[in-house]
Amino acid sequence: MDVSADRSPVMQVRGPRNRILGSALFSPESQITLRMVARDERPIDEAFWRERLATAIRYRDTLEIDATAFRLIHGEADLLPSLIVDRYGDYLVVQALSHGMDQLMPTIVPLLVELTGAKGILARNDPKVRLLEGLEQKVEVLHGEVPDTIQVREGAIEFEVDPRHGQKTGLFLDQRENREAAGRYANGALLDCFSYNGGFALALAAHCQTVEALDISADAVARITKNAAANGIANLTAREVNVFDELRHLEREGARYDTIVLDPPAFAKNKASVAKAMAGYKEINLRALRLLVPGGFLVTCSCSYNVDEAMFAEAIYEASVDAHTAVTVVEKRMQGRDHPVLLGVPETYYLKSFILRKVA
Ligand code: SAH
Repeated sequence: MDVSADRSPVMQVRGPRNRILGSALFSPESQITLRMVARDERPIDEAFWRERLATAIRYRDTLEIDATAFRLIHGEADLLPSLIVDRYGDYLVVQALSHGMDQLMPTIVPLLVELTGAKGILARNDPKVRLLEGLEQKVEVLHGEVPDTIQVREGAIEFEVDPRHGQKTGLFLDQRENREAAGRYANGALLDCFSYNGGFALALAAHCQTVEALDISADAVARITKNAAANGIANLTAREVNVFDELRHLEREGARYDTIVLDPPAFAKNKASVAKAMAGYKEINLRALRLLVPGGFLVTCSCSYNVDEAMFAEAIYEASVDAHTAVTVVEKRMQGRDHPVLLGVPETYYLKSFILRKVA
């Protein structure tokens, strides 16, 4: 493999006998030097990027998404490596997570404006992975104006999003379809663990008698409460607690729930932390299964891509054995369709979600 010497963000890649293999984004400082964008000799010009972006956006148009916030571009899976674009109403929040893509933004941003009519584009270029690319972490407006808060709708629920400071690009958009799916089963007393701004709790409140939302962050709890009031939801309370401690506490108190959601942060951020992560998943699933009534539903998720689906299923199975329960899988799910998985790139399949029923 030869890489020509100039510093263009896109390089022609040649293989043995100088055969052209295609074109790639170039990262001089990263361990991932090249990210392929084409496997032929076509020119990588503005028209090329317009078509790539337009194809990704057209695909979202076909999904009939019942929300004003969703992912427009999901990096590798849209053949736009290291580019994330999320739509929040009239605004876009973007992330350029490689050196090559960062360099390309002066081309990409006007195309996004042309294709989406966005009033403003914010770069949330604060993820740590940018450091591995020799890029700085920064948040800046790249086009128009972006307000401090943006009002969006997901299904029947209105959210106020803080695009500059919210987690990820503001919301956990990847769970939207799982919240919808959970609505088919949620009933009675609901416990939403790791609630953030109440994504599951608010979506499921109409199906349930009572809703308790738990998060360790005081900010999150304040947002859940505010969102509940703004949506006229009166059967929800939010508590600032550590879920690990609270599940134990609820068990001691003899609490029982008909529906429990477990949507923790990634416990395994790297390979070294997999064993600890597996123990964590087993622990919270075991406690949740004990708190569920027979016939109750558990929506359990893992967004650690270092813990694959089989490993996650194993942790849940072990939890069910220790809890002396029989559990059936009602639905096996993943991130929403606006976050597609590219076969051959396992990192693009990161969110696993099972809807389980405690049979006995
Ligand atoms: N369920 C949310 C997303 C959850 S993100 C949604 O659908 O939008 C994970 C959340 O877990 C974060 O808000 C974080 O503050 C919280 N968290 C992390 N560790 C925690 C702990 N030990 N106990 C309670 N909450 C925790």
